[in-house]
Amino acid sequence: MQKDSELQERYKQLGHGNARERQDFLDELDLEDATPYLRRVRYNQKLDQSGRLMGTLPTFRSLIGIKNIKSIVEVYPDAFNSMFLPFIDDFLSALIDHEGHHAREIYESPSIIWKHFSLSEPRCFRNREFGAYRNQIEMIKEKRRNCSKEMLLLLDANYSYCLS
Ligand SMILES: [Zn+2]
Repeated sequence: MQKDSELQERYKQLGHGNARERQDFLDELDLEDATPYLRRVRYNQKLDQSGRLMGTLPTFRSLIGIKNIKSIVEVYPDAFNSMFLPFIDDFLSALIDHEGHHAREIYESPSIIWKHFSLSEPRCFRNREFGAYRNQIEMIKEKRRNCSKEMLLLLDANYSYCLS
């Protein structure tokens, strides 16, 4: 069996996985281009109130403006059951190409947190997400990710929202 199909199979099984199994999976994942920017990918059993599947958490040191600090990405239960992430490549697109992009921005220019990370301000939200969606789209265009049509529909909707 190819490595990718093994990974796909394991990812699918985790739809019924417990917290320990999901965390083990995250610990073993190759974070590829996002590796230098992520301290940890942590499974959080609690559903995110805002309905997100994953989120990037800047550390205190990033918040006070120190550069070159790695962030934590949290993955919520729905990420393993989402209709928008049926393939492992969808999951990696969200985790590495999207959250990894946020982590890279925070690592390189922590001041961006205060400019873009105000959830209550729609314009800030759009500015912040714009770059992350573009990065996801670029990886699909370069055929480095083979995403599902569900993921493409979600990306289309989210990117269009950023343009509006
Ligand atoms: Zn985002």
